[in-house]
Amino acid sequence: MLNSKGIHFDEDLLNSWLGVGYMGIFIISMQMTLVHTSISWQFMNFQLIALIFCAYFLNIHVPYYYLYPLIISYMFINGSFGYWESWCHSIVLLTFYETLNYLRRKQHNDHPFIFYILSGVIFGGLLWFFMREKFGFTWQTYFEEWAYLIIFEMLLYSYVGMILRDTNLKVHLLEFANHDALTKTENYAAYVTEIRNLFDTSFENNLSLSMMMFDIDHFKQVNDTYGHLAGDKVLRHTADVVETVIAENDPNVKLYRTGGEEFNVIFPNYDLSSTEPIVRQIFMALNHLDVELNDKSISITVSVGVSTIAQTDLEPNDFYSRVDGNLYHSKKNGRMQITAK
Ligand code: GH3
Ligand code: MG
Ligand code: MG
Repeated sequence: MLNSKGIHFDEDLLNSWLGVGYMGIFIISMQMTLVHTSISWQFMNFQLIALIFCAYFLNIHVPYYYLYPLIISYMFINGSFGYWESWCHSIVLLTFYETLNYLRRKQHNDHPFIFYILSGVIFGGLLWFFMREKFGFTWQTYFEEWAYLIIFEMLLYSYVGMILRDTNLKVHLLEFANHDALTKTENYAAYVTEIRNLFDTSFENNLSLSMMMFDIDHFKQVNDTYGHLAGDKVLRHTADVVETVIAENDPNVKLYRTGGEEFNVIFPNYDLSSTEPIVRQIFMALNHLDVELNDKSISITVSVGVSTIAQTDLEPNDFYSRVDGNLYHSKKNGRMQITAK
């Protein structure tokens, strides 16, 4: 919401920090109920799982020295300053945290699970050992708690893994639905959504909106002469060239492949005259494009139509028809030209 008002921040980072804050409060308030009792170690496994979640699964890196004040206040609340076991416990905890952070950064290694669980087993065993030293519970309890921790760690790993797989799949599907597989530009479906939104918001806020449409001249001949694969290569180069020109000018301008060899470029906040330099640049770049194919070189020309929204436009297609009409005019009039009105 803030981003839409022009205030920029990393939303993921904010969410992660909120997660860490929530967990910190959760851990400390849990502990408050047990302070100064002989069983104040009872929630340790939950607290460790929360720590592992922050250090390994949340995609943020909190430097370990940020944890000093947290650990000190925890020890203060817990009344454990005077115990050497608690100090050893805290040091192991910090090392565990750093190790998990390190492992997360190196997650591209071949066996992330083995390293994750190995560190969980070793550090978990050490942490419970110091707790046993301090509170003197039985070895049976020690091994039970340690085993529970390992089970929780494994469950957390598979649960988060499942969620991540689901999220990655959704991201890929969305990408796939909005993009053209050949040129990697956004496709007709994405164009329809975008022009609808821009058309409405431009009228509501009295902003300009322009559009360029171009079509490769005699493209069928390219296919007929050099084959469809050569035609595909030309289409990819065409999209690359236009994307490059746009990137040099204004990233808010966007290219869509709306048909076989037809493309639309949407210019939000542009009127007819301000589109002109960019349209001209795209036109020149495409007409000078030579696509290398084996030892031959294929050159193309394009015909262009440009227009801007008018008060009489009732829906996006009224606007689109005018742009399309201008493109048709360029074609009829001898091709390789721009019609803008
Ligand atoms: P004009 O100057 O009037 O636009 O002539 P044209 O030959 O470009 O127009 P026409 O509409 O007759 O032909 C368009 C061609 O574009 C026909 C089709 O085979 C080709 N085409 C459409 N999509 C693709 C594609 O993805 N790959 C290739 N290689 N060709 C494509
Ligand atoms: Mg054509
Ligand atoms: Mg065409």
